[in-house]
Amino acid sequence: MATPKFRVAICGGGIGGLTLAVGLSRYPDIHIDVYEAAGQFKEIGAGVMVWERTWKILELLGLGKEFGDIAHAQPNRSLGVGFDYRKSDQPQEGFRFYLYQVPYGCIRFHRAQFLDVLVDHLPSDVAHFGKRLTSYDTSATSTRPEILLHFADGSNATCDLLIGCDGIKSVIRKQMLEDHVHKSGGDPTLLKHIEPIWSGRIAYRGLIPTNRLKTDNKEHRTIQTPMMYCGKSKHVVSYGISRGSIVNVVAMATQPHLYGTTYDGPWVKECGRDELLECFAGWEPEVEEMLQCIEKPTKWAICELRPLPFYVQGRVALLGDAAHGMTPHQGAGAGQAIEDAYILAEVLGHPSTTLSTLPQALAAYEAVRLPMANHVLRGSRESGNMYEFNGPLGDDLARLGPQIGKQWDWVWKTTPLEEREKALRLSMQRRASTAKL
Ligand SMILES: Cc1cc2nc3c(=O)[nH]c(=O)nc-3n(C[C@H](O)[C@H](O)[C@H](O)COP(=O)(O)OP(=O)(O)OC[C@H]3O[C@@H](n4cnc5c(N)ncnc54)[C@H](O)[C@@H]3O)c2cc1C
Repeated sequence: MATPKFRVAICGGGIGGLTLAVGLSRYPDIHIDVYEAAGQFKEIGAGVMVWERTWKILELLGLGKEFGDIAHAQPNRSLGVGFDYRKSDQPQEGFRFYLYQVPYGCIRFHRAQFLDVLVDHLPSDVAHFGKRLTSYDTSATSTRPEILLHFADGSNATCDLLIGCDGIKSVIRKQMLEDHVHKSGGDPTLLKHIEPIWSGRIAYRGLIPTNRLKTDNKEHRTIQTPMMYCGKSKHVVSYGISRGSIVNVVAMATQPHLYGTTYDGPWVKECGRDELLECFAGWEPEVEEMLQCIEKPTKWAICELRPLPFYVQGRVALLGDAAHGMTPHQGAGAGQAIEDAYILAEVLGHPSTTLSTLPQALAAYEAVRLPMANHVLRGSRESGNMYEFNGPLGDDLARLGPQIGKQWDWVWKTTPLEEREKALRLSMQRRASTAKL
């Protein structure tokens, strides 16, 4: 590469960080390094679903074919089921109270396969493993105008721009907020955004080989249809992935009064199937039958961030869960990370973005992404409460269904291309007004 226009350090190689790396790799004048704490890029064995707008981005990145090949089925524009909502917390057969349908429906993947596609498109030599960032130093000196990175193994690196893709427990978010408060005299109440808060909810997760849900004369409903089984303070999400060969299940149980507390102990644990079955005892037969087939569930504390007032400080920016870790009730955390990555890559890659105009490009990224991602963060929380009859409409099912659907208006009200245009326009306007000063 000739001298790069700037060097970007991407800290964290999850779905967000790797999408950014793939997005930036289309611009040969930008140097990228991905620093990952673990010894390899890794996703858990579970499903992940995205909506049309995320799918469009994957296509815009030139990855439509590869992602199409590993989706539950080839994605297409026809009307598909988002989720089929049932009232299920009684021993008798439940009933549908709402069917959410959108073009493409919900597009579903196995997480490990999803990450593999991104890894396959990473340029060689950008990944550095075993590099857990502990802190960074932005105080430029005449001999070192760049940002200095410190890693847990004692090594250092430098970059012109640091992107925190280090997940919901982000150390970069922590330092960004602490520096803002302690070094720049920012509002001390912002420190409450450092620690994630617990939603009061536990998720039991598991995968089921689809053939276990089939008998000679009956096939379980969820093999064909993404299901949302709803009940008081609990709900179960299930859908097919991997060309229909596996069903992904997430069963949630909530103690609403614990919302906003801190979850003590490990966020992920193994647990016995009996605990899961006991939790959903007395639910409709098709739920119990499905949960019986999960051999080794894992148990997750579901946490979120308080919506941040900024994602950027100087030449450090947050992306994905580091910026807006959210509950999974709109199937959107990974999708929002991918949207961040796409918009950021587009504004950074634009020919008029240079080292000296980075602040305007980052401001444009923040102006476009922060309102949307924080909206989804809040909406996800509200959706989760609605699925469990704990929202303002309680279990008034006739009104609840359409309200649940409305929560997803953001999915189709704008498109990633419109947002890209907006971000580029804002970046240009900000450059023009800075130049006039
Ligand atoms: C039960 C459940 C179901 C979900 N379902 C969906 C869904 O269907 N659809 C959807 O869109 N979203 C879903 N999500 C949310 C989604 O999983 C996340 O939003 C997404 O994975 C976040 O990606 P990320 O890259 O921002 O962070 P992460 O995946 O957390 O990646 C962070 C990376 O940074 C690395 N790292 C951490 N600290 C450091 C450090 N100090 N230095 C270097 N590297 C570091 C980590 O090792 C990791 O590789 C779900 C979440 C849960 C809990």
